[in-house]
Amino acid sequence: MIQDKSEDMKIEETAVSRPVDAAFQEEDRQENILRPRYLTDFQGQQSIKDNLSVFIKAAKNRGDALDHTFIVGPPGLGKTTLASIIANEMHSEIRMTSAPALDKPKDLAGILTNVSENSVFFIDEIHRLKPALEEMLYIAMEDFEIDWVIGQGPAARTMRVPLPRFTLIGATTKAGSVSSPLASRFGINIHIDLYSPEELMTIISRSARILNTSITDDAVAALARCSRGTPRIANRLLRRLRDFAAVLGDGTITGDIVREGLTRLGIDENGLEKMDRQILKTIIDFYNGGPVGADTLSISVGEAVESLEDYYEPYLIQQGYLKRTQRGRCVTDKAYELLKRRRTGDADQGLLF
Ligand code: ADP
Repeated sequence: MIQDKSEDMKIEETAVSRPVDAAFQEEDRQENILRPRYLTDFQGQQSIKDNLSVFIKAAKNRGDALDHTFIVGPPGLGKTTLASIIANEMHSEIRMTSAPALDKPKDLAGILTNVSENSVFFIDEIHRLKPALEEMLYIAMEDFEIDWVIGQGPAARTMRVPLPRFTLIGATTKAGSVSSPLASRFGINIHIDLYSPEELMTIISRSARILNTSITDDAVAALARCSRGTPRIANRLLRRLRDFAAVLGDGTITGDIVREGLTRLGIDENGLEKMDRQILKTIIDFYNGGPVGADTLSISVGEAVESLEDYYEPYLIQQGYLKRTQRGRCVTDKAYELLKRRRTGDADQGLLF
């Protein structure tokens, strides 16, 4: 239920803002240039694209909005991109916000009452939505209505405000933190996994074409191997290597430029950064290989739990250096080999997944 302090039924639309500085704005601008607009431009993730194109076609044939869609995956894998692709493919408008930007129920009501028929409403980081707003979303998603309270005290009365049919797209890096009542109201579930080096190669080649940058085949392959399975990182490294190629070489990104550039950026041939090694080293040296909880580990390495869980761990797990167990994180034999260490005792390896 939402409370309107004034007597008249005016629901203001809230401008969704986030702090940006010039560097962030430039990064965003560069990212937008490379952002695919339609499913055919979206590289890799074939089964996701196949299913989505069926659901979109069926919804369009019915003249209906697409079912509410839940997109899960680590940062930089294309959740926002997929949301805008869905809107483009549906020929509909898109409104974008993120849960931390929605403070009061009226912020959410302001947007919901302004969406147009069959349009897309995208909420990033939906796991951070406040409970009162989440409750409002339940009715909006199911009945395309919201409850609005007019007046205060004994004179207060509730009005049901009808909404246009819309598609809610909720994105999160943490599926486990989304309440089950909310998760169960999405009709379409998309789980994006880290990309394979082959998929990243097609992304890098496409981005190089758009940026008008020449890059050799061995450089594309080397860069793909070091991009943590993540398109955003692949694109960012490509832009940095373009700088190295322009200053250190003749403008073409070659295998040598990739090796030199990545070394200067502190990235090894396996795509690992200094902090990746620090994490593995800390678990081995201070916790005998694990298990160690995320909070303890985050304090030990001086990195926020969020970036530990969202940025470092997915790649370390995918590459087989780290495992999540019921009692915490454990390194694998591969990590001992990488860091040239020897196991000194038996770590608990009880697997969670
Ligand atoms: P997320 O919302 O998951 O953090 P984004 O959708 O913002 O990630 O994607 C980050 C960048 O990566 C985008 O600008 C886009 O250029 C690129 N990207 C993501 N997925 C793909 C893909 N499948 N094909 C091509 N480029 C992609």
